[in-house]
Formats: sequence, structure tokens, C-alpha cells
Amino acid sequence: MSQTNNSTIVAKFGGTSVANFAAMSRCAKIIINNPDIRLVVVSASAGVTNLLVKLGNEVLSSNEKESVLQQIRNIENAILNDLGRPIKVEAVISQLLEQLAEIALHPLLVTSTKLKDELLSFGERMSSVLFAEVINQVSGESLATAFDGRQVLKTDSSFAKAEPQLEATKKQAEQILKPLLDTKVVITQGFIGQDNFGNTTTLGRGGSDYSAALFAEAVDAFALQIWTDVTGIYTTDPRITDKARPISEISFDEAAEMATFGAKILHPATLIPAIRSGVKVFVGSSLEPDAGGTWISKDVDYRPAYRAVALRNEQTLLTVKSPEMLHATGFLARVFAILAKHKLSVDLITTSEISVALTIDNPPNTPVAALLDACVNDLRSFCDVNVESDLALVAVIGNHVEHDDNKGGAGRIFSSIGEDKLRLICHGASEHNVCFLVKQENAKDIVRQIHDYLFPA
Ligand code: ASP
Ligand code: MG
Repeated sequence: MSQTNNSTIVAKFGGTSVANFAAMSRCAKIIINNPDIRLVVVSASAGVTNLLVKLGNEVLSSNEKESVLQQIRNIENAILNDLGRPIKVEAVISQLLEQLAEIALHPLLVTSTKLKDELLSFGERMSSVLFAEVINQVSGESLATAFDGRQVLKTDSSFAKAEPQLEATKKQAEQILKPLLDTKVVITQGFIGQDNFGNTTTLGRGGSDYSAALFAEAVDAFALQIWTDVTGIYTTDPRITDKARPISEISFDEAAEMATFGAKILHPATLIPAIRSGVKVFVGSSLEPDAGGTWISKDVDYRPAYRAVALRNEQTLLTVKSPEMLHATGFLARVFAILAKHKLSVDLITTSEISVALTIDNPPNTPVAALLDACVNDLRSFCDVNVESDLALVAVIGNHVEHDDNKGGAGRIFSSIGEDKLRLICHGASEHNVCFLVKQENAKDIVRQIHDYLFPA
């Protein structure tokens, strides 16, 4: 059996990093320059998954479908043309495009989650084949090979949000993937997997980061690199303030809070396998590979009270009051049973004897919006419900944020913004964050204000 060398690095390249031939060539150099990178996980080329989602979810006329398919063909063909249309690669891509068109026209597509997952898989399946060829052309040798990751990444059958089956994945990685890594740089797909019946599944939008961490765990990698279009994690979103600074090193705990509350740099599940297996994670920009980035690991030398300020928009606050003064426990249990029935997950919560306030992440045009309406109706059958929207969640992330003496703890953070602007405050549940709700229209100003206060220039 092959023994993966303990310097093995798994590198993941996101959609913008493999958007076209030029981007792929830049990424190829990162791989060629680092012989420890043995396994590469790719996203679909930027834009392709959105087009596939459109084909799967919208009721389109055959002309409209054809036009979406053509946009996908154009993206893939542009890369193929820049490669000089090598016969073997052209044959694989043409076949994938044909299969994709067939599924896109399938009469049951709109109602079948199974067919939709099959459809969504084509973006990654094409980008991985093209990227392997780019690496081979840029390196001038046959360094890389494309590999169908569904042979390894085994999942349950929850289409659109499949759960990985870790033991089966590990076993497959040992048997068929690890031996390959000794001789080739293996290029595989993020986002997709396969259930026990051989059906293609997907891990949910943005799931390639998560896949990469699962692969890193399964091959016992030494590190995982996530190459994206930003130079790592910042003290806050650099689009909000130019005073945001890069963070060179951060602990798993803090990064997990940031992924949950923050600027969507990593898919929130990514760190679960990394923490489980102790694989350290690097986040950097494939546009500027030498500009550094952020290392996320278990042991960091420096654990400051304040690390970052994160912002998440589109929060809905439900305040649920029991008019009958039910027992607090019975009341809360009923409320949560209804939330669970609608599969809504709660982020922040504060409770009193007869009322509970809780937040739900509620981006527009997502299934959550419909679920939330149905849930509110159910709750209204036994209590009063008040719904507030257009709120934003601000989280201050660090270590023992609540007891920091220098800045006077959480109270000082709040008075620095003016308590009247705060809608709900949560702290104490985690030593790594203090968070609160504000009006979305004030959110960016508040983030700038807190950032200036916590990270003076
Ligand atoms: N291509 C998938 C998406 O766009 C997965 C990913 O890129 O992480 O959601
Ligand atoms: Mg992504």
C-alpha cells in the first residue's frame, strides 16, 4: 500500500482561479513550483455553476435553455481553444457537454433533486479535465492527471446537501487515490460526491472548500491550501474599510467563528475535517501567490483579545411571545420543535420566561424565505410572533473577548457605538466572539467604527 509522504499538500482552486486559460496557467505555476502539492481540488470555472443552477431550477423554454447551454459551451470552448484543442481532451469535453445538454432537457429535471445534482456536477467535471491539461502544457511534461473524485468522496443520498461518509471515503482514498499521488499530480473535483447507489451528489453551494478539506483528511495530508481571489483573511472585509489588515496566523476556533459569521472566505464546514485531522489550512490569492496569506492551525503563538470584526447581512429577527405564560421549558421546546420541522437554523438567541428572540440567516431568493413564512404561520398558532428584517449581524472575534481589560470588555465595545443602535446582544456562549444585531443600513458604519476602535492605526 502506498504511504503518503507526510509533506503532502492538497491545494484547492476556486472558480475565479480556474475561470479561464490565463487564470488556470497562473495556478498551474503554483502547482509546478511546489512539488509537495500532490492533490488538487477544483471548482467549476467561474459562472458555470450559476448557469447550471439556472437550468435546473427555472422553468425555461427550449430556446432559453439552449442559450444558457451555449454560454456554458463558450466558457469551456474558450479554454479548449487556448489549449489548441488536443484531440483527447476535446473528445472528453464534447462528450460531457453532450451529456449535460441531455440532462438539461430532461422533462423531470425541475422536480428531481437527483437529476439536478447530476447536472450540477458537470462544471467541476469539465474544469478538472481542462486544468490537468493546462498543467501538462505549462510544465511541458505529463505531470498531472484528471481523476473522478466521486470514486472517493462517498456521501449519503441527501441531494443538494449531501453528508460525507467518512469511513468509506477514507477507504477509497487509501485504495485508489493515495497510490496515484506517488506518480502524478492528481486533479479532482470539489463539490461533488457519490452515494451508495452510484448517484452523483453535491455538498451544497460553495462546497469545494469542504471537499478539499475532506480529501486532505482522507489522504492524511500535511496541509491544505485554499487558493482564492483574496490574500487571506483580514481584520475585516477590505471592501468595508481600507484600514483592514491581513491576518498572517489564526487559530481554528477563531477562524471557525469567522467562517460562520464572516465574509464567506471559506465554506463554513471546511474547518470541521481540518480540525478533526489537524491539517493546517492556508488561504491565499492565486493572483498574487507570493503576497502571503493566512495560516489557520490549532497552535498559534499569538492569541489576541481582538482578531477581527465580521459582518453578515440579511438577518431576520423573530420575537416569539407566549401569551399564556406557558412553562418556559414547554414553550421553548414547542418553538424549537417548529423551527426544526422547517429545518431553520438559529444563530443568535436570547430568552426570558415568556419570550424568545432569535435570528435566522435569510438571504433573498433562497428556500429559507419560504420556509420562514411557513414557520411563522405555525408559530402563530400558539404565540405572538414579531418579525423584523433588514438586520445585520456584527461579530467581534478574538480570544476571551468578554474579559478583555485593555478595552474594557464587551461593554466598552457597545458604548463605543451607542447602545441605541444595537438591537440584540449575545455574548458568553463562546469565548471567541461577541455579536450583536444592528440595522443593515447602519452596519458598515458600525463595523468601521468598531474596527477603528479595536485596531487603531
Ligand atoms: N462550483 C460550486 C459552486 O459554485 C462549488 C464551489 O465552487 O465551491 O457553488
Ligand atoms: Mg468558493
